[in-house]
Amino acid sequence: MKNLSVPVQYLRGVGPARARMFNFAGIETAEDLLSWIPVRYEDRTKFLPIASLSEGDRCVVKGKISASGKRPVRKRGFSLFEVIVSDGRGAISIKFFNQPYMSNILKEGRTAVFFGRVSLDKYNGFLTMLNPEIEIMGSGEDELIHSDRIVPVYRRIDKISGRMIRKTVFMFLSESPEMREMIPNEILKKYGFPEISEALKEIHFPSVPPGVDPEAFVRILHERETVAQKRMAYGEFFVFQAGMKQARIDNARVSSSKDIKITPRLKERVIKILPFKPTQAQKKALGEIVRDIVAPRRMNRLLQGDVGSGKTIVALQAMIVLVENGYQAAIMAPTELLAEQHFIGISRLLSNSPYRVGFLSSSVKGNSRNKFFENLASGEIQLVVGTHSLIQKGVEFKNLGLAVIDEQHRFGVSQRVMLGEKGFEPDILVMTATPIPRSLAMTLYGDLDVSIIDQMPPGRIPVKTVVKSESGREEVFSLVREKLKAGEQVYVVCPLVEESEQSDLTAATETCSRLQDIFPAAGVGLLHGRMSPEEKTLVMEDFRKGNLQVLVTTTVVEVGIDVPSATVMIIEHAERFGLSQMHQLRGRVGRGLRPGLCVLMVAGKGTREAAARLRVMSESNNGFVIAEKDLEIRGPGDYLGARQSGAADFHFGNLVKHFSLLADARQDVSDLFDQGGISRNAKKLLLESFSKKWGDKAGFYSSG
Ligand code: ADP
Ligand code: MG
Repeated sequence: MKNLSVPVQYLRGVGPARARMFNFAGIETAEDLLSWIPVRYEDRTKFLPIASLSEGDRCVVKGKISASGKRPVRKRGFSLFEVIVSDGRGAISIKFFNQPYMSNILKEGRTAVFFGRVSLDKYNGFLTMLNPEIEIMGSGEDELIHSDRIVPVYRRIDKISGRMIRKTVFMFLSESPEMREMIPNEILKKYGFPEISEALKEIHFPSVPPGVDPEAFVRILHERETVAQKRMAYGEFFVFQAGMKQARIDNARVSSSKDIKITPRLKERVIKILPFKPTQAQKKALGEIVRDIVAPRRMNRLLQGDVGSGKTIVALQAMIVLVENGYQAAIMAPTELLAEQHFIGISRLLSNSPYRVGFLSSSVKGNSRNKFFENLASGEIQLVVGTHSLIQKGVEFKNLGLAVIDEQHRFGVSQRVMLGEKGFEPDILVMTATPIPRSLAMTLYGDLDVSIIDQMPPGRIPVKTVVKSESGREEVFSLVREKLKAGEQVYVVCPLVEESEQSDLTAATETCSRLQDIFPAAGVGLLHGRMSPEEKTLVMEDFRKGNLQVLVTTTVVEVGIDVPSATVMIIEHAERFGLSQMHQLRGRVGRGLRPGLCVLMVAGKGTREAAARLRVMSESNNGFVIAEKDLEIRGPGDYLGARQSGAADFHFGNLVKHFSLLADARQDVSDLFDQGGISRNAKKLLLESFSKKWGDKAGFYSSG
């Protein structure tokens, strides 16, 4: 008997050529094929009377072919074949473009079913269907697959049509392949879930429950709310959460051999570096972090908080705890610019402290680089700030006790693993300024503890956000003029242009020279991804010092900078930006005492989705709210995709629609593992399945 691990090549109807196309799309086994779920379903149980059709209907008609013929086409190499189909009461013309073989299939006198969209023939004003899917009646088992049922519609894979996929799936399922059940029986019972084989059959070839209208059932299918769909989603979450749970267990076992003492002297020092009173949220976060540092297990913590909520200073305090205990601590940023920013900020905060701070990026070269490595290995450097360079091979620490990773989205898992290999099992603190909705944090960082700073330092006035169209530009410019006169500074962000980095640059360059003309007295600077780190630093410094009052940037450059007199952020083509991205950019203004303003310039009409994003931006200033909305509007796939988080992706599960199932699975797995309600063997299977699916991609799994 076949099982789910059979390679697709050995499925009926799939030879080496198709197998290659499947493989290229990531479909290696029958199981992968069954995870290629329908993009939608079509109710093909009801045939509409041809006489009742009207333009725009997506429908199924059944009738006899009463006439057929080739139609002349002007262009060489093109063909058009037409049949007239009648059901006794009405007739319709059906055309096939460039499918000459249809003349062999659609012979006069045959009865066939057509699924497609009714349109109006521009030339003669009659109703027609162009390139519908067809099924000849009375020709064998295929009619059972493609008609007279709720039919799954699949996205095509290369040259393999959706119809071909449907047939392949159908034939495989009808062989009753063996499937391994991952969900324990009691849990299936608890939720009233069907067994896996039943569920997969229902996902691909749903049967309408008795008494339910097929059309209504299709709607439920599209909402992904049938019991089969929920079961498969749950099953996927269950396996995922098993992996996460095991990671948490493993992690708790990794003992950290560090000897950390919190003395009154240390407490005093940690507080002394603060030039202000910490917020309640900062205190709480630091408390959680320090508790982890002291605990005899390794810390794996995510620190979430909006831009400007004061994460860096909390991280720095944690670093001091390590340094005071004789260990080294590192903080790493994703870009040179951010690393430098941290270095400057931290050096300033520590200017009256005895700690020795080092800096490494790719711009530290030659002799000073060698010197740096020496000092790092000897322990001469206690606190180090840098970029990815810090975790490259050959960089040796004396005793790294804590690694703080800023803006984790750009750090891949492998990088975190490499960091772990730096020895001494450093505690790990990941900071992110893009708050992640709880639902996602739970899945992506299932093995991480989470601290949240959800409070802004006092005195910060929320940034006001307005949406303007091109017709409001003059108004915006005169406002900018006033701000510049008052000595304030302005960012102008140009969006990513799809085509290339080059056109990206062109757009920014043009904006820059236009603004130079409009504001001749203000220095207008340009920052873009093609500049060398040295050039970037120079421009940044000029902006920070106020030599430049306006800074035009492309999004290639992370504007991770802290310039208190920057009060205005203009985002060009705001309709092209994601919510979280805009929110992040907005956080760069209003960091001083003067109120910030964010202008979202919108060109053209944009999509409804874009309009929704802009509305959210002008209504909320809270990163956590925005993250939730972002997830809601874009859906998790896009949301995560835009972050390139290498996050877990689910085939059956949808984080928005099935969120409560995710939470259920987490709880169920946790209970089962904790109470020993699962056999060793079942556990082993679950974890194998987990690593097969997510082992090297799941957020933070490989931390142990
Ligand atoms: P984040 O890293 O979360 O974006 P930062 O740590 O860079 O935020 O802090 C933003 C700004 O707010 C910095 O200038 C910092 O010195 C200041 N700051 C942080 N915490 C407080 C506080 N409790 N009170 C006043 N200012 C603060
Ligand atoms: Mg920061």
